[in-house]
Amino acid sequence: MSKGNIGVTSDNIFPVIKKFLYSDHEIFLRELISNAVDATQKLKTLASVGEVKGDLGDTRVRVTIDKQKKTLTVSDHGIGMTADEVDKYINQIAFSGAEEFLDKYKDKTEAIIGHFGLGFYSSFMVSDKVEIFSLSYKDDAKAVHWTCTGNPEYTMEETIKAERGTDIVLHINSEFEQYLEDATVEGLLKKYCKFLPVEIAFGKKKEWKEGKEVELDEENIINDIHPAWTRKPSEMTEDDYKKFYHQLYPDQYEEPLFHIHLNVDYPFHLTGILYFPRIKRNIDVRRNKIQLYCNQVFVTDEVENIVPEYLTLLHGVIDSPDIPLNVSRSYLQSDNNVKKISSHITKKVADKLSELYKNDKDDFCKKWDDIKLFIQFGMLSDEKFYERATGFALLKNLEGNYFTLAEYKEKVKENQTDKDGNLVLLYAQDADSSYAYIERAKQKGYDVLLMDGELDVHAMSQAEQKDMANRKDGEKGSLRFVRVDSDTIENLIRKEETVQDNYTAEQKEGITKAFENCLPQNERLRYYVNCEAAAADALPVFLTQNEFMRRMKEMSQHQQSMSFYGSMPDQYNLVINTAHPIVKELIDKMTSEIVEETVDKTPDENNSNDDNKVQETVTKTVYTLSNEDERLKQLIDIALLASGLLKGESLAQFVKRSVNLLQ
Ligand code: ADP
Repeated sequence: MSKGNIGVTSDNIFPVIKKFLYSDHEIFLRELISNAVDATQKLKTLASVGEVKGDLGDTRVRVTIDKQKKTLTVSDHGIGMTADEVDKYINQIAFSGAEEFLDKYKDKTEAIIGHFGLGFYSSFMVSDKVEIFSLSYKDDAKAVHWTCTGNPEYTMEETIKAERGTDIVLHINSEFEQYLEDATVEGLLKKYCKFLPVEIAFGKKKEWKEGKEVELDEENIINDIHPAWTRKPSEMTEDDYKKFYHQLYPDQYEEPLFHIHLNVDYPFHLTGILYFPRIKRNIDVRRNKIQLYCNQVFVTDEVENIVPEYLTLLHGVIDSPDIPLNVSRSYLQSDNNVKKISSHITKKVADKLSELYKNDKDDFCKKWDDIKLFIQFGMLSDEKFYERATGFALLKNLEGNYFTLAEYKEKVKENQTDKDGNLVLLYAQDADSSYAYIERAKQKGYDVLLMDGELDVHAMSQAEQKDMANRKDGEKGSLRFVRVDSDTIENLIRKEETVQDNYTAEQKEGITKAFENCLPQNERLRYYVNCEAAAADALPVFLTQNEFMRRMKEMSQHQQSMSFYGSMPDQYNLVINTAHPIVKELIDKMTSEIVEETVDKTPDENNSNDDNKVQETVTKTVYTLSNEDERLKQLIDIALLASGLLKGESLAQFVKRSVNLLQ
């Protein structure tokens, strides 16, 4: 028997492991099983080149729990270790500058494990004592028994072991007795080992028989050793992909829309399958995340730094031995391989979408509403993806037809270009509440888009900016999206100078004041009243909402930096349609009087000295409307009603007033 000190330059490795690795202690199982799988794979490789002769026999890795002895054991039939090898690989964790490093990475436990290959030592996070029993595959090898109680001292002696391979026996610390529970261990195995390439057995299969759970003779195999992503796409059917999707996410009942099988050999290795789920809202889909594997070992489902954020809306797996595993998140972001992988995935996803669009446009259109959020998110956050996506990003009009932006521009160009050369694209966010406005647009032969998506407002702004940036010098006009109810249709797409009424400024001021006096009081809403000769068959009074302000408010819901707009009250224009007979009648009914006003005047414009001011008396005609408040209120309420803004008490009052007017 030999004794010795584990070859760490300082003896503080164990406290570090216990203390700093505490939060991630469950990974010990992943580490031990990875080692067991590696040892088994190495044996298979040696056998394939003839270095190990004869039948390999049973190569399953087994995890067993002994509740009495309070041990958890991971056993393999891999290459095993000789005493020399245990000394070399386990005893000599020889590294330089340990203290300095440990100090620097105190908080980044994963980095410590990965950097030093401390995988095996992570077992000390949960154990009082760890034993290794190992018999090497080498001829005449003698079995070795190694014991360590979590201080740098170990013992090593010869032992008797019948079968080739290694047993790692953990004497579980009383604080961590959950690792002696079948359910906990099975849960961890399912999390980390579901797709490992060597069979992992844990206990026996169970079955329900006559209301009781009975153990079968067969071993309970945790993993699928040939997961779908490791197979050739040509061997996979549509059904296989769906089955695998449900294997990945057992709680998910909905089918994915389509998949992308990734298979890259150069300049890095990466395989995987990504699925497009139906994306309704951001939050819904994040429940099932993309899972990251390294040679079939589950690493994480926190892939935020590995794939661009919008890709995290997808589901599926990515497996790459080239993604550094046990390093900190900030390190990942700057890693060159990770960057390459990320841009490669982006390209693949865009290629696939463009292929789907080209091959079956109808089918793509049917799925568009479900993937739109994802594609817009991608276009907004990744310039490269934007460029690739312009060929398949679609707009939908109220008739339910789909167009790319280029196609749509072509379609409406002739009719919807205004006198200044601006191409105006009309849209509605809610076809019902904008019904009257949509009808007026249709009467003019205009087309209206439906923009009811979470990111539509952002997507429209982006399209406008891109159009602006791509215009050649001296090119007239711009691309503008305007909501169909943001102004009169004549003003939205101005064809020639609009018709003017014949009323004087004083008359308009009079009727404007009269309406202002009858406005409902609401802190959250602000109205600006103005006159306009819209059309005789439009409403006598109606609301419009400035496109810019409304969009800013909508965007502010998604962007912290814009919360300033969110806190502003909603602003509406109350337009008095001076072309409407009722309004005309009201204006004609106003009475006028001449009033005298004194105003300050500065005779010399260049000298604003107060002393130079002279007071001057001017006369002015002031119009007033009396005894019509009820009608004005009624007209305002009709305008509010037409825009879906009349609610609660105001609505009740409106109904009452309407009845009174009929009596
Ligand atoms: P890493 O796996 O990152 O190299 P570990 O500390 O987990 O670091 O293991 C150190 C070495 O010990 C391994 O590289 C391997 O050579 C050896 N080893 C660990 N577990 C086993 C095992 N079950 N069978 C054979 N060799 C093993």
